[in-house]
Amino acid sequence: MTKRLLRLANITLCSIVISVLTTALLMHFIFGNIPIAGLVIAALVPILAGLPIIIIIDRQRRKLNEALAELKQAHSQMESLNAELEKQARYDYMTGFLNRRYFVEAVGTCAHQSGNGAMLCIDVDNFKQINDSFGHLVGDDALRLIARTISSATRDGDLIARMGGEEFAIFLRNVDFKGAFKAAEQVRMAIEATPFEPTEGVRHDLSVSIGVALSGETKDFKTLFGQADMRMYTAKQQGKNRTISPDINHLGQVA
Ligand code: GH3
Ligand code: MG
Ligand code: MG
Repeated sequence: MTKRLLRLANITLCSIVISVLTTALLMHFIFGNIPIAGLVIAALVPILAGLPIIIIIDRQRRKLNEALAELKQAHSQMESLNAELEKQARYDYMTGFLNRRYFVEAVGTCAHQSGNGAMLCIDVDNFKQINDSFGHLVGDDALRLIARTISSATRDGDLIARMGGEEFAIFLRNVDFKGAFKAAEQVRMAIEATPFEPTEGVRHDLSVSIGVALSGETKDFKTLFGQADMRMYTAKQQGKNRTISPDINHLGQVA
């Protein structure tokens, strides 16, 4: 406010000085003398005519600045909204993992870039039992706990997705069949060792079945995921809470 008034005073003062000097010069050249009344009128003109104009312009400028600030705020709100939308389009809201659609895209790029990769297909064992015994919300808690356990049992660069329901997938970069099996077992054992208390004093054992496929077998997502999924079902049939890897012969090839 004070800054604005100071600016107004400066402009007005400059206008008065210019007006008085110009009038004095003109009167000196035309009439040969400088009457005081002429100088007073010259000083009053900028105040009476110029000041209202300056005030109006200043008010408009202030409004323009306010509109500009609002526009900037709306722009930054739109940017964070866009970022949120992008996040929602890529990530699963419950676990923070990639969603199925984005995982397919990311694996497509990754599988072609890295020579040796592996797909793990993970399905929670007897998950329906948790929902049926303790309710859907406790089931959600179990899913979040399993997701956190998967996160801590994997490496930073691994691509992890919630494929839907109680099914997860992990794409490991640069691993051979031994490394893939080891990583899968690390996840399986971490979940097996995770204490889950659906209600106070009640412990419920968690476990997952995992199927592994190697990207050396195929680079096509559907086939790669299909193979891992098939092995996951074999793990279920063989009694659950286990990892099924591709059979590798003595030459290191998938048998
Ligand atoms: P299996 O060992 O053969 O995999 O048995 P399962 O009980 O895990 O498998 P099933 O497919 O019969 O049950 C999966 C259940 O997961 C059914 C569905 O209601 C539940 N489910 C899927 N998504 C969610 C979710 O987001 N939250 C909760 N609480 N339950 C979910
Ligand atoms: Mg399932
Ligand atoms: Mg299941």
